[in-house]
Amino acid sequence: MELPMTSKVPNTLALDFDGVLCDGLLEYFQATWRTYRQIWSTSRFANELAPVFYRLRPVIETGWEMPVLLRAILQEFTEAEILEDWRTICSRIVAEENLDPKDLAARVDTVRDQWIETDLAGWLKIHRFYPGVAKRLRQWVEAKELEVFIVTTKEGRFVQQLLQQEGIQLPKERIFGKERQQPKYETLRSFPVTPVWFVEDRLPALKTVAGFSDLAEIRLFLADWGYNTPTDQAVVGQDSRIQLLLLCQFTQDFSVWPEPRLL
Ligand SMILES: [Mg+2]
Repeated sequence: MELPMTSKVPNTLALDFDGVLCDGLLEYFQATWRTYRQIWSTSRFANELAPVFYRLRPVIETGWEMPVLLRAILQEFTEAEILEDWRTICSRIVAEENLDPKDLAARVDTVRDQWIETDLAGWLKIHRFYPGVAKRLRQWVEAKELEVFIVTTKEGRFVQQLLQQEGIQLPKERIFGKERQQPKYETLRSFPVTPVWFVEDRLPALKTVAGFSDLAEIRLFLADWGYNTPTDQAVVGQDSRIQLLLLCQFTQDFSVWPEPRLL
Protein backbone atom coordinates (compact mmCIF):
# COMPACT_ATOMS: atom_id res chain seq x y z
CA MET A 1 0.00 0.00 0.00
CA GLU A 2 1.27 3.46 -0.80
CA LEU A 3 1.63 6.02 1.89
CA PRO A 4 -0.49 9.14 1.51
CA MET A 5 1.31 12.14 0.06
CA THR A 6 2.51 14.20 2.97
CA SER A 7 4.57 17.30 3.19
CA LYS A 8 8.22 16.81 4.15
CA VAL A 9 8.37 20.09 6.02
CA PRO A 10 5.90 22.07 8.08
CA ASN A 11 5.03 25.69 7.39
CA THR A 12 3.75 26.08 10.92
CA LEU A 13 5.58 24.35 13.74
CA ALA A 14 3.68 24.30 17.03
CA LEU A 15 5.78 23.36 20.03
CA ASP A 16 4.81 22.60 23.57
CA PHE A 17 7.23 24.17 26.05
CA ASP A 18 7.70 22.07 29.20
CA GLY A 19 8.92 18.61 28.35
CA VAL A 20 9.68 19.51 24.72
CA LEU A 21 11.93 22.57 24.81
CA CYS A 22 12.69 22.97 28.46
CA ASP A 23 13.05 20.66 31.43
CA GLY A 24 11.48 22.44 34.35
CA LEU A 25 11.22 19.46 36.70
CA LEU A 26 13.41 20.92 39.43
CA GLU A 27 11.51 24.20 39.34
CA TYR A 28 8.14 22.45 39.27
CA PHE A 29 8.91 20.66 42.43
CA GLN A 30 10.28 23.74 44.19
CA ALA A 31 7.27 25.86 43.17
CA THR A 32 4.95 23.03 44.22
CA TRP A 33 6.66 22.58 47.56
CA ARG A 34 6.42 26.31 48.33
CA THR A 35 2.74 26.38 47.33
CA TYR A 36 1.95 23.21 49.23
CA ARG A 37 3.25 24.61 52.47
CA GLN A 38 1.05 27.69 52.16
CA ILE A 39 -1.96 25.38 52.30
CA TRP A 40 -0.91 22.33 54.31
CA SER A 41 1.83 21.38 56.70
CA THR A 42 3.98 18.28 56.61
CA SER A 43 6.82 16.85 58.62
CA ARG A 44 8.24 15.10 55.54
CA PHE A 45 11.34 16.44 53.80
CA ALA A 46 11.38 17.92 50.31
CA ASN A 47 14.28 15.78 49.15
CA GLU A 48 12.51 12.51 49.96
CA LEU A 49 9.38 13.59 48.05
CA ALA A 50 11.03 15.14 45.00
CA PRO A 51 12.03 11.88 43.22
CA VAL A 52 8.48 10.51 43.54
CA PHE A 53 7.08 13.79 42.22
CA TYR A 54 9.49 13.72 39.24
CA ARG A 55 8.37 10.21 38.29
CA LEU A 56 4.72 11.21 38.44
CA ARG A 57 5.10 14.45 36.47
CA PRO A 58 3.59 12.87 33.30
CA VAL A 59 0.11 12.91 34.86
CA ILE A 60 0.02 16.69 35.27
CA GLU A 61 -1.86 18.64 32.65
CA THR A 62 -2.01 22.11 34.22
CA GLY A 63 0.02 23.81 36.93
CA TRP A 64 -2.73 23.93 39.56
CA GLU A 65 -2.65 20.11 39.77
CA MET A 66 0.94 20.14 41.05
CA PRO A 67 0.17 20.82 44.73
CA VAL A 68 -2.70 18.33 44.51
CA LEU A 69 -0.26 15.71 43.20
CA LEU A 70 1.99 16.31 46.17
CA ARG A 71 -1.08 16.02 48.41
CA ALA A 72 -1.88 12.65 46.82
CA ILE A 73 1.69 11.44 47.41
CA LEU A 74 1.47 12.49 51.05
CA GLN A 75 -1.92 10.79 51.40
CA GLU A 76 -0.10 7.57 50.52
CA PHE A 77 -1.68 6.94 47.16
CA THR A 78 0.75 4.61 45.40
CA GLU A 79 2.62 5.64 42.27
CA ALA A 80 0.79 2.93 40.32
CA GLU A 81 -2.60 4.24 41.45
CA ILE A 82 -1.69 7.79 40.51
CA LEU A 83 -0.34 6.82 37.10
CA GLU A 84 -3.37 4.67 36.45
CA ASP A 85 -6.13 7.03 37.50
CA TRP A 86 -4.87 10.51 38.24
CA ARG A 87 -8.02 12.31 37.04
CA THR A 88 -10.22 10.50 39.57
CA ILE A 89 -7.77 10.89 42.44
CA CYS A 90 -7.29 14.57 41.64
CA SER A 91 -11.05 15.26 41.50
CA ARG A 92 -11.56 13.41 44.74
CA ILE A 93 -8.91 15.41 46.63
CA VAL A 94 -10.26 18.68 45.19
CA ALA A 95 -13.78 17.78 46.39
CA GLU A 96 -12.79 16.37 49.79
CA GLU A 97 -10.53 19.28 50.66
CA ASN A 98 -12.80 21.88 49.13
CA LEU A 99 -10.07 23.20 46.84
CA ASP A 100 -10.55 25.72 44.07
CA PRO A 101 -8.39 25.07 40.97
CA LYS A 102 -8.42 28.81 40.17
CA ASP A 103 -7.09 29.60 43.63
CA LEU A 104 -4.42 26.90 43.34
CA ALA A 105 -3.36 28.23 39.93
CA ALA A 106 -3.11 31.77 41.29
CA ARG A 107 -1.03 30.54 44.24
CA VAL A 108 1.41 28.66 42.00
CA ASP A 109 1.77 31.68 39.70
CA THR A 110 2.27 34.01 42.67
CA VAL A 111 4.98 31.74 44.05
CA ARG A 112 6.71 31.91 40.65
CA ASP A 113 6.29 35.66 40.28
CA GLN A 114 7.74 36.27 43.74
CA TRP A 115 10.60 33.88 43.09
CA ILE A 116 11.42 35.65 39.79
CA GLU A 117 11.19 39.01 41.48
CA THR A 118 13.49 38.12 44.34
CA ASP A 119 15.90 35.71 42.61
CA LEU A 120 15.63 35.82 38.82
CA ALA A 121 19.08 34.29 38.28
CA GLY A 122 18.28 31.38 40.58
CA TRP A 123 14.93 30.80 38.93
CA LEU A 124 16.40 30.82 35.42
CA LYS A 125 19.26 28.57 36.44
CA ILE A 126 16.99 25.83 37.71
CA HIS A 127 15.50 25.35 34.20
CA ARG A 128 17.36 23.37 31.57
CA PHE A 129 16.73 23.45 27.85
CA TYR A 130 17.19 19.95 26.45
CA PRO A 131 20.51 19.42 24.63
CA GLY A 132 20.59 21.05 21.19
CA VAL A 133 17.06 22.38 21.48
CA ALA A 134 17.75 26.07 22.08
CA LYS A 135 20.15 26.16 19.12
CA ARG A 136 17.61 24.48 16.83
CA LEU A 137 14.81 26.77 17.96
CA ARG A 138 16.98 29.83 17.42
CA GLN A 139 17.74 28.65 13.86
CA TRP A 140 14.06 28.16 13.09
CA VAL A 141 13.13 31.55 14.50
CA GLU A 142 15.95 33.39 12.74
CA ALA A 143 15.65 31.64 9.35
CA LYS A 144 11.96 32.58 9.13
CA GLU A 145 11.31 29.70 6.72
CA LEU A 146 8.48 28.52 8.90
CA GLU A 147 6.29 30.00 11.59
CA VAL A 148 7.14 28.78 15.07
CA PHE A 149 4.52 28.96 17.80
CA ILE A 150 4.75 27.87 21.39
CA VAL A 151 1.57 26.28 22.67
CA THR A 152 1.73 25.69 26.40
CA THR A 153 -0.30 25.54 29.58
CA LYS A 154 2.40 27.63 31.29
CA GLU A 155 1.96 31.40 31.59
CA GLY A 156 3.44 33.09 28.51
CA ARG A 157 5.44 35.57 30.58
CA PHE A 158 7.44 32.74 32.17
CA VAL A 159 8.16 31.21 28.77
CA GLN A 160 9.38 34.53 27.46
CA GLN A 161 11.81 34.95 30.35
CA LEU A 162 13.30 31.55 29.64
CA LEU A 163 13.57 32.06 25.88
CA GLN A 164 15.25 35.42 26.37
CA GLN A 165 17.85 33.78 28.56
CA GLU A 166 18.78 31.63 25.57
CA GLY A 167 18.86 34.62 23.22
CA ILE A 168 15.71 33.52 21.39
CA GLN A 169 13.61 36.48 20.31
CA LEU A 170 10.18 35.04 19.71
CA PRO A 171 7.49 37.73 19.48
CA LYS A 172 4.89 37.62 22.24
CA GLU A 173 2.08 36.86 19.79
CA ARG A 174 3.85 33.60 18.90
CA ILE A 175 3.48 32.33 22.47
CA PHE A 176 0.09 30.84 23.32
CA GLY A 177 0.26 30.44 27.08
CA LYS A 178 -2.25 29.80 29.82
CA GLU A 179 -3.33 33.46 29.83
CA ARG A 180 -5.09 32.93 26.50
CA GLN A 181 -7.47 30.52 28.23
CA GLN A 182 -7.78 28.42 25.11
CA PRO A 183 -7.33 24.66 24.82
CA LYS A 184 -4.39 23.56 22.68
CA TYR A 185 -6.61 22.08 19.97
CA GLU A 186 -8.36 25.47 19.59
CA THR A 187 -5.00 27.17 19.19
CA LEU A 188 -3.94 24.63 16.56
CA ARG A 189 -7.23 25.19 14.76
CA SER A 190 -6.46 28.92 14.54
CA PHE A 191 -3.19 28.54 12.59
CA PRO A 192 -3.89 29.56 8.99
CA VAL A 193 -0.61 28.51 7.37
CA THR A 194 -0.48 24.79 6.62
CA PRO A 195 0.90 22.19 6.92
CA VAL A 196 0.97 22.36 10.71
CA TRP A 197 3.14 20.00 12.75
CA PHE A 198 2.68 19.76 16.52
CA VAL A 199 5.27 18.43 18.99
CA GLU A 200 4.01 17.65 22.48
CA ASP A 201 5.17 15.39 25.30
CA ARG A 202 1.78 14.55 26.83
CA LEU A 203 -0.02 11.75 25.08
CA PRO A 204 -3.53 12.77 26.27
CA ALA A 205 -3.08 16.21 24.64
CA LEU A 206 -2.16 14.57 21.31
CA LYS A 207 -5.03 12.10 21.56
CA THR A 208 -7.47 14.97 22.05
CA VAL A 209 -6.21 16.66 18.88
CA ALA A 210 -6.39 13.33 17.02
CA GLY A 211 -10.06 13.09 17.99
CA PHE A 212 -11.08 16.12 15.89
CA SER A 213 -11.80 15.31 12.26
CA ASP A 214 -11.21 18.91 11.16
CA LEU A 215 -7.64 18.68 12.54
CA ALA A 216 -6.82 15.53 10.58
CA GLU A 217 -4.18 17.30 8.47
CA ILE A 218 -2.09 18.28 11.47
CA ARG A 219 0.87 15.97 12.01
CA LEU A 220 1.35 14.90 15.62
CA PHE A 221 4.60 13.97 17.34
CA LEU A 222 5.16 12.66 20.86
CA ALA A 223 8.49 13.94 22.24
CA ASP A 224 10.05 10.85 23.76
CA TRP A 225 12.44 12.92 25.93
CA GLY A 226 9.62 14.70 27.77
CA TYR A 227 7.17 13.83 30.52
CA ASN A 228 5.62 10.64 29.26
CA THR A 229 5.83 7.02 30.31
CA PRO A 230 7.05 3.83 28.56
CA THR A 231 3.35 2.86 28.33
CA ASP A 232 2.57 6.09 26.44
CA GLN A 233 5.45 5.40 24.05
CA ALA A 234 4.26 1.84 23.47
CA VAL A 235 0.75 3.13 22.68
CA VAL A 236 2.19 5.51 20.10
CA GLY A 237 4.08 2.61 18.52
CA GLN A 238 0.66 1.14 17.62
CA ASP A 239 -0.82 4.44 16.44
CA SER A 240 -1.02 5.51 12.81
CA ARG A 241 -1.64 9.15 13.61
CA ILE A 242 0.92 10.00 16.29
CA GLN A 243 4.63 9.39 15.73
CA LEU A 244 7.27 8.99 18.40
CA LEU A 245 9.95 11.65 17.91
CA LEU A 246 13.46 11.30 19.32
CA LEU A 247 15.47 14.26 20.57
CA CYS A 248 18.22 13.55 18.01
CA GLN A 249 15.60 13.82 15.25
CA PHE A 250 14.04 16.97 16.66
CA THR A 251 17.36 18.78 16.67
CA GLN A 252 18.17 17.76 13.09
CA ASP A 253 16.72 18.40 9.68
CA PHE A 254 13.05 17.57 9.09
CA SER A 255 14.10 14.86 6.62
CA VAL A 256 15.01 12.58 9.55
CA TRP A 257 11.70 13.06 11.38
CA PRO A 258 9.49 9.95 11.35
CA GLU A 259 7.11 9.49 8.43
CA PRO A 260 3.41 8.89 8.94
CA ARG A 261 2.62 5.22 8.51
CA LEU A 262 -0.31 3.02 7.71
CA LEU A 263 -0.93 0.15 10.09
MG1 LIG B 1 4.65 19.41 28.02
